[in-house]
Amino acid sequence: MKEHKFGTKAIHAGVHPDPATGAVMTPIYQTSTYAQVEPGVHKGYEYARTKNPTRSVLEANLAALENGYDAICFGSGMAAMDAVLRMFHPGDEVILSNDLYGGSYRLMTKVYERYGLKGVFVDMRDPAKIEAAITKNTKLLWIETPTNPMLQLVDIQAVTKIAKAHEILSCVDNTFASPYLQQPIELGADLVSHSATKYLGGHSDVILGAVVVKTKELSEQLHFIQNAVGAIPGPHDCFLVLRGIKTLHVRQKRACKNAKKIAKFLAAHPKVKNVYYPGLKTHPQYALAKRQMRYAGAMVSFDMVGDKYEDAKVALSNTHLFTLAESLGGVESLIGHPASMTHGSIPKEERLKIGLTDSLIRLSVGIEDVGDLIRDLEVALKAVKIKVETEV
Ligand SMILES: *Cc1c(COP(=O)(O)O)cnc(C)c1O
Repeated sequence: MKEHKFGTKAIHAGVHPDPATGAVMTPIYQTSTYAQVEPGVHKGYEYARTKNPTRSVLEANLAALENGYDAICFGSGMAAMDAVLRMFHPGDEVILSNDLYGGSYRLMTKVYERYGLKGVFVDMRDPAKIEAAITKNTKLLWIETPTNPMLQLVDIQAVTKIAKAHEILSCVDNTFASPYLQQPIELGADLVSHSATKYLGGHSDVILGAVVVKTKELSEQLHFIQNAVGAIPGPHDCFLVLRGIKTLHVRQKRACKNAKKIAKFLAAHPKVKNVYYPGLKTHPQYALAKRQMRYAGAMVSFDMVGDKYEDAKVALSNTHLFTLAESLGGVESLIGHPASMTHGSIPKEERLKIGLTDSLIRLSVGIEDVGDLIRDLEVALKAVKIKVETEV
């Protein structure tokens, strides 16, 4: 399927009419076990923790979309990261982006550090900082790009080159971009992790995670962990993600175009201080965004003049189309306050260092009419009582 373009692969790769009935849509194989003809003789399926046909189709589809060797699905994005970290041993070190998804930071620092795995957080925008953090114990680079919620980018090609030179594995959390916008394995990564809960599922109706791998060896290791630990997704959840992926390219193109218009609107608004969106020419990594991504994504963050949480709160409670909620990547637009919501577990002095201020608001732009979305933000910002020079 490598010869086909993305939109064709999203719909067809790994998907085939059901061999039992000819059903065009992949059936939900809601079964825990499979009949054997005689002990050990079966059609490739024994027990559903090990393998399930609905899950197998999703795994084949994801592997094709990321141009990987294989994909392994898990019950959540966090379970996917957990499986990757389980490949290592006490004393090993992992270097991670310092502007990281809050749950990933928590898993590394609050769970794995207790098992002797050391997390080292660096600003991966500067590859020299990665070089400086590498020791003889470093085994993995965990890269998130674009980052959440500051929308910083990491140059995947430059960073994975460093990993290779030191014989370190690299994993890119590709949740924010999805394979439609960037394909990390093509750029040198060994592993790609996903919270399929977000753009892949796309409809805010399922929690699921995946790891896509470049090699057979990594595939075997992760299938072993998947089966041994058991953090698998159910077949119905696999079905929902498979269905979501069929429109990934259409949804995401629209969401990205909406996001760019909204970022421009916010950049011109007198009550807004900083807008973080890699598709704006003012973003310090605009050139990298153009080189690395098909579109600049559909996440936009901004903070407010005066940086008061109270002002952000007024804006957050005055939108009608943007729903105040955690998560992202669905067809409907969401608005959130990272400092108190998704990044509540990160100490204040840590978050201020990366620009995650008290008034920072994060938007997950959906696929509604963009004029309606902009009017919604206009009304919400009007409710905020910040004195700005242009209004005096
Ligand atoms: C949501 C998210 C995760 C965690 O995924 P879940 O499916 O919620 O477990 C990991 N990384 C990023 C970037 C995310 O946005």
